[in-house]
Amino acid sequence: MPLPKSFLARMQALLGPEYPAFLEACSQPPFRGVRVNPLKCSAGLLRQSLPFAIEPAPFAPTSFYAQWDKGFGSLPAHHAGMFYAQEPSAASAVTALDPQPGHRVLDLCAAPGGKSTQIAGLLQGRGLLWANEVVRSRAGALLSNLERLGVANSVASSCHPQTLCQGLAGYFDRVLVDAPCSGEGMFRRDPRAVEEWSPEHAASCAIRQRAILDSAALAVKAGGALVYSTCTFSPEENEETAAWFLKNHPDFTAEALPVPLGRPAHDGGPWRRIYPMDGGEGHFVARFRRGDGGPCRAGTFGGELRGSLAEAGRELYRSLFSGDCPERLAQVKDSLLLLPEGLPDLRGLGVLRAGAELCQVRKGRLEPSHGVFMCQQGQACREPLELSPESPELEAFLRGEELECGGKGYRAVCVNGVTTGFGKASGGRLKNRYPKGLRNK
Ligand code: SAM
Repeated sequence: MPLPKSFLARMQALLGPEYPAFLEACSQPPFRGVRVNPLKCSAGLLRQSLPFAIEPAPFAPTSFYAQWDKGFGSLPAHHAGMFYAQEPSAASAVTALDPQPGHRVLDLCAAPGGKSTQIAGLLQGRGLLWANEVVRSRAGALLSNLERLGVANSVASSCHPQTLCQGLAGYFDRVLVDAPCSGEGMFRRDPRAVEEWSPEHAASCAIRQRAILDSAALAVKAGGALVYSTCTFSPEENEETAAWFLKNHPDFTAEALPVPLGRPAHDGGPWRRIYPMDGGEGHFVARFRRGDGGPCRAGTFGGELRGSLAEAGRELYRSLFSGDCPERLAQVKDSLLLLPEGLPDLRGLGVLRAGAELCQVRKGRLEPSHGVFMCQQGQACREPLELSPESPELEAFLRGEELECGGKGYRAVCVNGVTTGFGKASGGRLKNRYPKGLRNK
């Protein structure tokens, strides 16, 4: 699709002598990439499990270029949550955020979950990831990706940024605003981004970004960091929005990124830009540090389940897995959840799920859920059924079919030691419990 003339004129003005290199890059196919999920596997194991080659990308240690022009979604390693398909420069924002194990991290504009799942990998199961997506219809994909990649220490919500950040004011060590933008860095991948583009659209995105940043600032605790990123090139959504934020939030200072990704920004600020000439589709990343902050306004969580149902849930957990059962459980309708440590009060914040689903309560019986298996390493599961990535049995399992198998009771199904689902064994067969919506056709 031809690029709009007014967009090209803006890029020529912005890039000057580099404009021909940008035009040349725009005529090439887009970069494709995968990000290894360290919660479930190593880069070495991912390499062995993929039918294509991967090469390290410069934007995050877990990010790789992929030589693959087909879909990723039906690959066994994808079902098992060993990787997230992500254009490599999109990993730069979380590299700038630099979350540490034990941190509380808010991803305010989170769907479909590329950056949330990257944050979860860096938290290594410690601390809390709060992944929020205001557009409810996009939150399903976020929930599904958090589950697939085995993220247990998370809360997913669909809440307006202002309500959420007022409710959790001063609570987070790190806040990421990966803002909705005019998407100029998507042009090589998505013709709709070209169709929707206009100078007026870029200007209206900048207004919305500033409102989101105003809310996000509230959620950062004193001494915490805020990262702002877009996948567009327009200065009003990038350098000008970053400068606007500093001017309007004197309790924040601009910081250099921990790693100098891409190239310096156009205004001499400490922010960074990535163009297709730099090995990625396009990103802008700015990092701010909060000095003084108001007191933390998050309430204390009080929704813990106690009594015989909680004990039955723990017993079920111990019958399935060898590790310690998380201490706190909650019940939401028919669902029992394993809660992360240190939750705040969740009420009024549009929470869709906290922690991992352990089981469903059906007619007084506890039926384990797909989610709890996805958060376990294969070796922590009792009697896992190991299948090779190329085996017809694994293909059949991922299509939802029954398998031949010994033993009795719930058994995890693993690929190269990584859980991809479970079934219930009896009479020499494994009844398939792989969720219908995830199955290969
Ligand atoms: N961080 C995501 C990832 O890595 O997968 C991509 C986020 S995308 C660039 C921006 C998100 O912001 C979209 O999911 C969009 O629905 C959401 N959004 C749209 N309007 C918003 C608003 N007013 N406030 C907060 N988020 C908004």
